[in-house]
Amino acid sequence: METKPNLIDGQWVTSTDSILNVNPSNLSEPIGEYSLATPEQVGEAVAAARRALPAWAATTTQVRSDLLLKTAIELLDRKVELGELVSREAGKTRADGIGEVVRAAQIFQFFSGEAVRYGGDNLPSVRPGIGIQTSREPVGVVSVITPWNFPIAIAAWKLGPALAFGNTVVFKPSEETPAIAWELIDILKRNGLPAGVVNLLIGKGAVVGQALTEGVDAITFTGSVRVGREIATRAVANMARVQLEMGGKNPLVILDDAQLNVAVECAVNGSFFSAGQRCTASSRLIVTDKIYDRFVDALLTRMQSLKVGPSLSDGIDIGPVINQRQLDTIQGYIEIGKNEGARLLAGGELVDAATPGFFMKPALMAGTNDMRINREEVFGPFASVIRASDYEEALALANDTQFGLSSGICTTSHKYATHFRMNVKSGLTMVNLATAGLDYHVPFGGRNGSSYGPREQGKMAVDFYTISKTAYVSYE
Ligand code: NAD
Repeated sequence: METKPNLIDGQWVTSTDSILNVNPSNLSEPIGEYSLATPEQVGEAVAAARRALPAWAATTTQVRSDLLLKTAIELLDRKVELGELVSREAGKTRADGIGEVVRAAQIFQFFSGEAVRYGGDNLPSVRPGIGIQTSREPVGVVSVITPWNFPIAIAAWKLGPALAFGNTVVFKPSEETPAIAWELIDILKRNGLPAGVVNLLIGKGAVVGQALTEGVDAITFTGSVRVGREIATRAVANMARVQLEMGGKNPLVILDDAQLNVAVECAVNGSFFSAGQRCTASSRLIVTDKIYDRFVDALLTRMQSLKVGPSLSDGIDIGPVINQRQLDTIQGYIEIGKNEGARLLAGGELVDAATPGFFMKPALMAGTNDMRINREEVFGPFASVIRASDYEEALALANDTQFGLSSGICTTSHKYATHFRMNVKSGLTMVNLATAGLDYHVPFGGRNGSSYGPREQGKMAVDFYTISKTAYVSYE
């Protein structure tokens, strides 16, 4: 099998070490072999990005816009092939894999427009004979570090604005999902990416990721809280700008007056689709007393209809989890829950599929909000129901968490929906919708332990990827 190289200063380069990427739906199916970047190569990539910066920052916005649009068009043209690659590599259903590639294309298309739209203000000074202009300049060399669970969409929502606003990039995708990252960089390169403007460094977090926090002007990271905190510490020590999107423990509140079918679909989608491996997944289902039994019964019935199996098989709802470590972690949380007094209501069993992989039935536990299963991110097809006496207690429980990414409420009451939207402490909130599932043209991010730094996506993306300048001009 040919080893796929990394991209440094416009050249495809290998090293002596590589990793084999395997399909989590079929452990006997290798996907590809990828060269592992060395710390020296990280240094070369950062230096190349630094050299490429002045020319890229000085290109016309049309040049940057064209690159992003051509990338979007190729992604759309190849959505089935690349979507199936995402499914094979990350364990998503075919629809989710293709949907993610389409989403990446939409994001590049959006930032193709943003490249020519952004600007500054022209203001009168409060002093006579002076004018003021504000403008935005690229922040510089940006380190982009991404997780495996949205391997092309997250790369797109970081690379898109980085390039649109004139920055150069060193990009480290997750070592779990190098294949789609490699294809994306190949597409950018063939569509006119100048040497050094984006450098691809596939490698282990502890080696490449760590080295990537040195010598750059900004770091944008999506991943776990543990790694995010480490990166933040190093970024501050180096005075680099930092943006972190991390975990969640997202609550979905279901009130007595909810439409039962809507609540059940929101819970199934938010908790179990994409094998629960979404930072916006609903892991805490907070249900008020009068609907609790009916809701749990209906959810258990609906869960029985969910089909778990290899990601590209027809008719499946839930693919595998990403790897053995993650499977062990989820199974471990079921035991932790039981030991703390939670009840396993359904699921959790390993599934024997046609091919060997990391399959488990979605698990539902009943517990209280103080249990570890409701405090720590599990990141899998696993949710917990928590009983609340009324809306006020449900809101208090929803906010009783160290996280604050997404949240949701199912209710037919305008009063409670409005109050929840205004008082829940999360960056995203949903009314009668699953906590996961977002648009690409609006800001994305959380609060508390879930996020740090400026928002990603939409019009707000410009804030992280540019530095503002205020110019005073004398008219005298
Ligand atoms: P992870 O933190 O293990 O890895 C993320 C990236 O960081 C990978 O590229 C990894 O190689 C790299 N890395 C690991 N150690 C590093 C180090 N010491 N220094 C620098 N980089 C390092 O996360 P994961 O398992 O890939 O992804 C799952 C996590 O991502 C979950 O916690 C999930 O909630 C979170 N996530 C958050 C969002 C969001 O927008 N809030 C979106 C998707 C995923």
